[in-house]
Amino acid sequence: MSSTSSVDERRVRVLNDAPAGAGPVVYVMAREQRVCDNWALLYAAEQAKKRQAPLLVLFALGPMFNEGSRRHNDWMVVSLKEVEKNLAAKHIPFYIELGEWTDVIPAFAAAHHVGEVVFDFNPLQPVRAWRNAASAVLAMRTVEVDARNIIPCWQASDKAEFAAYTFRPKVHRQLSEFLTNFPPLSAASPPYNGPTSTHDWSVVAAYRNVSVEAPLPAWIAPGEAAAQAMLTQFLNERLAGYAARRNDPNEQALSNLSPYLRWGNISAQRVALAVEAVRGVPRDDKEAFFEELIVRRELSDNFVYYTKAYDTLEGAHQWAQTTLSEHDKDEREYTYTLEQFEQAKTHDELWNAMQVQMVQEGKMHGWCRMYWAKKILEWTASPQEAITIALTLNDRYQLDGRDSNGVVGVMWSIAGVHDRAWTERPVFGKIRYMNFNGAKRKFDVAAYIERYTDTNTLFDA
Ligand SMILES: Cc1cc2nc3c(=O)[nH]c(=O)nc-3n(C[C@H](O)[C@H](O)[C@H](O)COP(=O)(O)OP(=O)(O)OC[C@H]3O[C@@H](n4cnc5c(N)ncnc54)[C@H](O)[C@@H]3O)c2cc1C
Repeated sequence: MSSTSSVDERRVRVLNDAPAGAGPVVYVMAREQRVCDNWALLYAAEQAKKRQAPLLVLFALGPMFNEGSRRHNDWMVVSLKEVEKNLAAKHIPFYIELGEWTDVIPAFAAAHHVGEVVFDFNPLQPVRAWRNAASAVLAMRTVEVDARNIIPCWQASDKAEFAAYTFRPKVHRQLSEFLTNFPPLSAASPPYNGPTSTHDWSVVAAYRNVSVEAPLPAWIAPGEAAAQAMLTQFLNERLAGYAARRNDPNEQALSNLSPYLRWGNISAQRVALAVEAVRGVPRDDKEAFFEELIVRRELSDNFVYYTKAYDTLEGAHQWAQTTLSEHDKDEREYTYTLEQFEQAKTHDELWNAMQVQMVQEGKMHGWCRMYWAKKILEWTASPQEAITIALTLNDRYQLDGRDSNGVVGVMWSIAGVHDRAWTERPVFGKIRYMNFNGAKRKFDVAAYIERYTDTNTLFDA
């Protein structure tokens, strides 16, 4: 592991041909809602310092996309209030503008005579379309910085990887180069004397339409400080034993970091550095965790970045499309609608319990997510309908939903993405199958069902 004093240019992608102007550098924060360990903010600060220009941070809040619910909106608002406080401590002005990116970002750039715009990287189509449309009309240098992946997405691989086994060697080859320490956030260059921020938090909180009124669960708190606390708890209490215990949904064995990683409240690079630094934990536990945190997580961005139709059957391997279409007309023993799934009204008590866990706690156990999505394939009229229902529910209720990992989790389970062909069977074709008896062999299914029986607390969409 090496240390670094500036941002590696390979993290940066230039989005237009315009030169930088003399005015402020603005970091348009979106996916990375944190001040600490944020390569996009660090890059903007470096650019500002280099040109002796002020540094500003803008959060441009567009309309809701991908089924966001009350809990997502509330998570974001709490996170941003903390961002504002942490930026204020460093004398960096923070602005929130409401509206379409193509309107508010150019208007902000004009009002503040901005000299350079820095976006953080997000491969999801809606955000990508907003960013591209905004950068096309910006008259000053505009870049994006991958502050999400340890190895920048475009650097890790130049194509959609076939599977984890093709991606893993590329990660292992490049990791030591990128798993560096973070430089400090340099003090803001000249103070800014332009217009000050005018946002009203109650207006910000009410701006987005939510798909469902599912509230924030009480067991987890949003934001950077809470993310650091969750990391410390994981390192002290759950990292040792992670390899053996992580697949038992009745155990408290996982890191619970996915909501924080999703909202950018913590950097995966910081998590990896912290795990590596722990002493006295078996290597197997660290390796098992790095496989998830680094290989699997960064493979998700790789898939979404390089796959145009990433949330449809077209995004699957050819063998998977063929086998699923061959079994399209197979008789289904049960079929359910989105509403029936949502209200946990299937014949399978275990599936219903998983749905209840997700809706109530905002986070379904990782092993359960595979079973849950595969049963949606089994109990819907077509694979495409299964993908749509699984993504809709995932994105409505999981605190870590509406991001690349959810897309790939669903596409792996239903459409064999990053997986191989298995023994052929009805409905699934050669897609890997999972069943109730397999679950019973893995963990105490009755105990899990007992914990999640209360369907009275589910929410109407
Ligand atoms: C159908 C389905 C849907 C899923 N939806 C999401 C989602 O919306 N958001 C999400 O973050 N993950 C999703 N996953 C992946 C995985 O289940 C979760 O990342 C994990 O359960 C999060 O809990 P944790 O942070 O406590 O996990 P830990 O086991 O502690 O893992 C640490 C981190 O590694 C990453 N990770 C773990 N497992 C995977 C995986 N299989 N693929 C990619 N990255 C992984 C996550 O960033 C996670 O936070 C989904 C998986 C499936 C099968």
